Amino acid sequence: MINSLRDLIENDTLKKLNSNIYRILEKSLSGDEINKKEAEALFSSENDDFFALLKVANYFRKEVNGNIVTYVINRNINFTNVCHMGCRFCNFAKKINDPDAEWLNLNEIVRRAREAWDRGATEVCIQGGLHPKLPGKFYRDILLSIKKEIPSIHIHAFSPFEIWYGAAKNKMSYFDYLTDLKECGLGSMPGTAAEILDVKVRNILTKNKLSSDEWVKIIKTAHKVGLKTTSTIMYGHVDEIKNWSNHLFKIREIQKETNGFTEFIPLSFVYKNSPLFHEKKLNVKAGPTDIEIMKMHAVSRIFFHKLIDNIQVSWTKLGPKKVQILLDCGVNDLGGTLMNESISRSAGSQFGQELTGFEMARIIRSKNKIPAQRDTLYMKKEIFNTHDPKFYEPLVKRNSFDPMEFLN
Ligand code: SF4
Repeated sequence: MINSLRDLIENDTLKKLNSNIYRILEKSLSGDEINKKEAEALFSSENDDFFALLKVANYFRKEVNGNIVTYVINRNINFTNVCHMGCRFCNFAKKINDPDAEWLNLNEIVRRAREAWDRGATEVCIQGGLHPKLPGKFYRDILLSIKKEIPSIHIHAFSPFEIWYGAAKNKMSYFDYLTDLKECGLGSMPGTAAEILDVKVRNILTKNKLSSDEWVKIIKTAHKVGLKTTSTIMYGHVDEIKNWSNHLFKIREIQKETNGFTEFIPLSFVYKNSPLFHEKKLNVKAGPTDIEIMKMHAVSRIFFHKLIDNIQVSWTKLGPKKVQILLDCGVNDLGGTLMNESISRSAGSQFGQELTGFEMARIIRSKNKIPAQRDTLYMKKEIFNTHDPKFYEPLVKRNSFDPMEFLN
């Protein structure tokens, strides 16, 4: 077991480290948690300090997860893109009469879930826009319809924004509403719509319609009801480093109280088609830089050490090549195969709709790590020590696009 930087980093490099960064990394290696200011210092690290940060993050990953990197076979079902919340960063939402407005009825949602199950999925991930005409019982009907057809599939569904909307429509408390959804078959929830838990930043991004406090309240209630959730941050827009460390701190405090987060997923702001980016007055960043992306994953690994074991990379936002790099920055999970992806694509992401288990395993092996298929709650289903996952074609044909070209 390593508890000093001297065991991880050569003497010549150690001598060049900034004394504060040295102290913070030593502190985390000795088992103490780092505070917000210290996280900010790590986010600002450069050169040798930055490489020392990656070393420690990678060490913690190995200590917690060994050499295994996981993924889940799942399918995204975005049942509607109609939404009247008007978040300024969002290019997914359409107006009800837009020609590209979509609405999937229950039969189609169940058909997609069945198709995913038949292709080996253990999970469906269901989220949609806040459609103004959404029937009050629709979320529970989705759960009941899928569970009737496929009782064993795990339903990971409904962001805190949707829970806020559904509870209001049904005039129910969050506790009663979530309890009912759980009884109808909800297995866990995405901790999306967190963006950044800061009133000023949220006011710009989402007009603070779902406030920071409400997000926290819904997440804590979900955990209390027995529903695990993911946790996320969306960064690289109008935010600053201090917003990042405050956000991480809030997530860590919740985890200490509830232990309900399964993982932390940094989500890079995809600027290309985002209306926010094109608002000239706001000086919006074009997403995080590559170095910031590496830092976000590495600092998260250190900041959440012993509290959140899984740091997930979002391949839809970053693409397989960056995923490969991030496997050396504290990441131990590649998320879902998805089969259908529309949210990141609407924002301008170009990494396709599906990364198959076979492809994920190739990326993982390229970094001398062992791929494993997991379920939603991180139980391992199969570890691919010596054999590969079954090869299959993506559900949506890719034509000439090959996301794995960088490995060929
Ligand atoms: S981010 Fe979600 S809630 Fe906000 S406008 Fe887009 S779909 Fe609606």
